[in-house]
Amino acid sequence: MSNTKAFAAQSATTPLAPFGFDRREVGAHDVQIEILYCGVCHSDIHQVKNEWGNSIFPMVPGHEIVGRIIKTGDHVKKFAIGDLAGVGCFVDSCRECPQCKAGLEQYCDVGMVGTYNGYEKDGKTVTYGGYSTNIVVDENYVLRVSEKLPLDAVAPLLCAGITTYSPLRHVGVKKGHKVAVVGLGGLGHMAVKFAASFGAEVTMLSSSPSKEVDAKKLGAHHFVLTSDAKQLSKVKNHFDVILNTVSAPHEYVTYLDLLTTNGTMIVVGAPPKPSEVPAFNLIMKRRSIIGSLIGGIAETQEMLDYCAEHNIVSDVEVIDISYINEAYERMLKNDVKYRFVIDIASLKN
Ligand code: NAP
Ligand code: ZN
Ligand code: ZN
Repeated sequence: MSNTKAFAAQSATTPLAPFGFDRREVGAHDVQIEILYCGVCHSDIHQVKNEWGNSIFPMVPGHEIVGRIIKTGDHVKKFAIGDLAGVGCFVDSCRECPQCKAGLEQYCDVGMVGTYNGYEKDGKTVTYGGYSTNIVVDENYVLRVSEKLPLDAVAPLLCAGITTYSPLRHVGVKKGHKVAVVGLGGLGHMAVKFAASFGAEVTMLSSSPSKEVDAKKLGAHHFVLTSDAKQLSKVKNHFDVILNTVSAPHEYVTYLDLLTTNGTMIVVGAPPKPSEVPAFNLIMKRRSIIGSLIGGIAETQEMLDYCAEHNIVSDVEVIDISYINEAYERMLKNDVKYRFVIDIASLKN
């Protein structure tokens, strides 16, 4: 057992505060990672506030984890002590269903084991995430991380990165495509970088006028202020793909009408309230809406390798753990540029 320092929410209405617990012993196929940085995802906020109705308390959030291997089990093959490593949104899955066999562990028919706010495969042990000093994970669910890139800026790739990379690849975004990204936060800024890097013409659809300059620096070719009906009407029937990352409840129809014939809106944002989808906004132009959940282990590795090769990282504001509740407040006001990342050294003091 190893004593682990962490920050946890004790209930949906209390701020995050110091918490201690023991990680499991390192099993034959496990590695133990000393966590160096952990990104702050809006899903952490949804779950800490129990907005999805499935929260288990106490909760140690965090699923954008990077660090160094400090211990390896006897049968570990892929990692050695001292290696950099990453952990994303899940730490296990059934390994036997068709989804797991196809490398789509995030869609495991039995259910993936969430990095936090989930249960291990024994159905009893609650998982605790990356707002903590170390984690023990089966090596098959651990990613290799390049030494080339700044580690704090790599952490958000483990969720914000793969969640945007995977669906853009799935729908085959490439040169000649007009792609819009809705919401310039953690996911949105990675989506802009990936879509631009795949050769698409990228438009940022944002509710924040102050983000126009940054959107263009991140790689967007155009910026549309979604509160301005005139600007919106200029891009009606225009986009091949819209990646919707909005975290707050909103109406999909606002964006559906911006899709051209056969266009696809990919929903990755997970607001706690549903949106109506009128039939006519779909059928008149054979539009579709698809959802997408993070990405499998193999594709997450592909994305990390792609980022190392193309020098793509997240734009981060590194914070001490003591700032976490304020960081949440700022994210709720759309004031994040563009991902908070916790320096886990601040937990060790
Ligand atoms: P974030 O950093 O807080 O960014 C969300 C952005 O959405 C905001 O910056 C804002 O951008 C926009 N927004 C917020 N409220 C809005 C409103 N009322 N109307 C229009 N736009 C609004 O959040 P994130 O970490 O990127 O996460 C975004 C969502 O994706 C969350 O719901 C999260 O749970 C979900 N998520 C899903 C997956 C998945 O696998 N599908 C993975 C990770 C996260 P502007 O200021 O530009 O408008
Ligand atoms: Zn996330
Ligand atoms: Zn499975």
